[in-house]
Amino acid sequence: MFSTKFNTTDDLPEPSPNLINQVIGQDEAVEIVLNAVKNKRHALLLGDPGVGKSMMVKAFGELLENSGHFTPYTIISKPNLKNTEKPMVELLEGNVIERIMPEEKPKVMRQPPSMLTLVLIMLGFILVTQFLLKGVPETQMLGIVATTTIVGTLIAFIILFLAIFGATKASMPNSISPADLKPMVLYECPKRPLVRASAYNTTKLLGDIKHCPLGGKPPIGTPPHKRVILGAIHEAHKGILYVDEIKTMPLDVQDYILTAIQDKKLAISGRNPNSSGASVETNPIPCDFTLIMSGNMDDVSNLRAPLMDRIDYKVVLKNKMDNSLENRDKLLQFIVQEIKNNNLNPMTYEACCELVKLAQLLSGSKNKLTLRLRRLSNIIKMANDIATGKELSESLNEFTKNGTLDLDDTFDSDSELIIEQLSQGDKDAGKLKNVVSKIKGKATKSTKKSGKSVDELKIELRARISDLNKLDTSKVKKPIELSDVKRVLDTGIYSMQKQVAMDYLENFKEYKNIHPNGEPTVGVIHGLAVLGGEGLGDVTRIITKVLNAKNPKTSLLNITGDIAKHSITLASALSKKLVSDGTLPLKGKDGETDLSEKEIYIQFSQSYSKIDGDSATAAVCLSIISSLMNIPIKQDFCITGSLDLNGDMLAIGGVNEKIGAAREYQFKRVIVPFSNYKDVINVEGIEVIPVKTLDELIPLVFEI
Ligand code: ADP
Repeated sequence: MFSTKFNTTDDLPEPSPNLINQVIGQDEAVEIVLNAVKNKRHALLLGDPGVGKSMMVKAFGELLENSGHFTPYTIISKPNLKNTEKPMVELLEGNVIERIMPEEKPKVMRQPPSMLTLVLIMLGFILVTQFLLKGVPETQMLGIVATTTIVGTLIAFIILFLAIFGATKASMPNSISPADLKPMVLYECPKRPLVRASAYNTTKLLGDIKHCPLGGKPPIGTPPHKRVILGAIHEAHKGILYVDEIKTMPLDVQDYILTAIQDKKLAISGRNPNSSGASVETNPIPCDFTLIMSGNMDDVSNLRAPLMDRIDYKVVLKNKMDNSLENRDKLLQFIVQEIKNNNLNPMTYEACCELVKLAQLLSGSKNKLTLRLRRLSNIIKMANDIATGKELSESLNEFTKNGTLDLDDTFDSDSELIIEQLSQGDKDAGKLKNVVSKIKGKATKSTKKSGKSVDELKIELRARISDLNKLDTSKVKKPIELSDVKRVLDTGIYSMQKQVAMDYLENFKEYKNIHPNGEPTVGVIHGLAVLGGEGLGDVTRIITKVLNAKNPKTSLLNITGDIAKHSITLASALSKKLVSDGTLPLKGKDGETDLSEKEIYIQFSQSYSKIDGDSATAAVCLSIISSLMNIPIKQDFCITGSLDLNGDMLAIGGVNEKIGAAREYQFKRVIVPFSNYKDVINVEGIEVIPVKTLDELIPLVFEI
């Protein structure tokens, strides 16, 4: 299986500390993208989920971090006194914090006189005039008063005018406190950055201006330069911007990214039109990044052509690799990595072998191994949970066997409390609760009175639980065994669709009218289908009846509805051709048949699966031939395969799932296209017959 023999993975060498060496099976892609990144070219990674796209990018980030010279930089924002709504964002190189952070003293203008001062000046003026006018004859008084009043008012107006003018000019700096004038540090970049953002998260990608409920004007509001949020495109300046889930990238965001790539800078403005941030826009901010995007194969259609044109490298990641000794060793390396990186228990040799088999199964072929490694990684983690669960319950068994704890019902309500207390401060409270509930389970079953007080029991339990915890975290590490991996396969590895499909099959199997031991029957054949998106096989009973045509030449009707249209169209053409041109090595029991007078009805009995490809062509075709020529079909086999107009059997998908279904329903034989035979993984308990042509099929199928 592997090039080395070992007991558990603990015997194997440690994985490489460099992430790039941990990526397996994607050598070509790694080389290309590494080249792209080194030369600052933009790249697009396409591939199935969980084949290592993010992992690769992370590894590049790690490599870049330690390569070449990099000058740290800081991005700050400053108020714009000329136009408050246009704060200024600057990128400063080197260690600038000390340079910019000392108190920047705003130039405070002289205070303009307030209205109170003006009134006081006027009053003073009047008092002084009154004082000076003492003893002046009344006749001259009127003129002097009039003149002084006019002059006084004039002076007051001039002062007032100057005050208002001055106040407007100076209002801004005067109303902004020194703190509001301070520049703000938006981002410090000490090393070459790798910034990850999801394509749908516009704010995170492009930045935004926060809303200020107080209108955003000092002194009460927050000034605009303090509300700037940088985008990932800016934080990735001089590094890598990794955008995943490209399928979800809005078109306008694509345009912004395109502009950013071209101009190497992009302004930030408020994105929400209802927010006070909407009227704020910064100057263009540098964003000179290498763009790496990733997604599934069919997500590309969402990317606009101009953006696609700017992507220099488009790389497709593999989803399977050859099942060779070298690659099985790589898979073993992957297992060791997962165990180390996730701090799991070691795994036995047999369990590792089982994982390789699983990788085979998930690839759909015995000659391949899947590279959708996230799924394998999840299985390893689940098997680990099962192994550690066993570890705890074994200690528990030992504990109860020793008879040190014998509880009565009064313990139950109190125990909740203790569990709460104990689990506080415990990093793995869930696990602890689990253990305690097991203890409780045993305790409530016990009818024997312990004779101990509840307090004594509490003390005992506390001591015991702390023992269990110690055991759990450090000392014994029970290896993950074959049985643990098998348990995961019995339950948790499947997708939701597959679990639903399994449930359906479990419930409906006994009601399905399928008889693998039935007598040869005219027009009845067992085809195979795949249920749900995730590959679970199912047996479909196909029944064909030929009646005299009510409407001559309408000839072929699928009475089950929408199923297998493709297969039926093909099969009808083929069967008619074969039956009418007499090339079949068969003799009809009723002699020659005039097809123009017949109507053929095809039913996919009790079929709830979606058959949309042409993989039922062979089955449908044979069933029609059987009905037309009145020759019975054997019932001990299932068949899957597509037939072309020359009568050649063509490959189909999901061969292993389909064989699985035939086995499940206890058929003795299953007929598959010859070209699929190399993919067949498990032939246990069933005869798998590869077939190349229709001629080979005839004796296998018909009771002649
Ligand atoms: P993707 O981005 O393609 O969906 P990830 O990079 O997130 O997949 O992979 C998820 C996890 O699966 C990784 O963290 C790693 O543990 C494992 N994995 C996936 N592909 C590989 C690989 N080629 N080599 C090693 N581990 C892998």
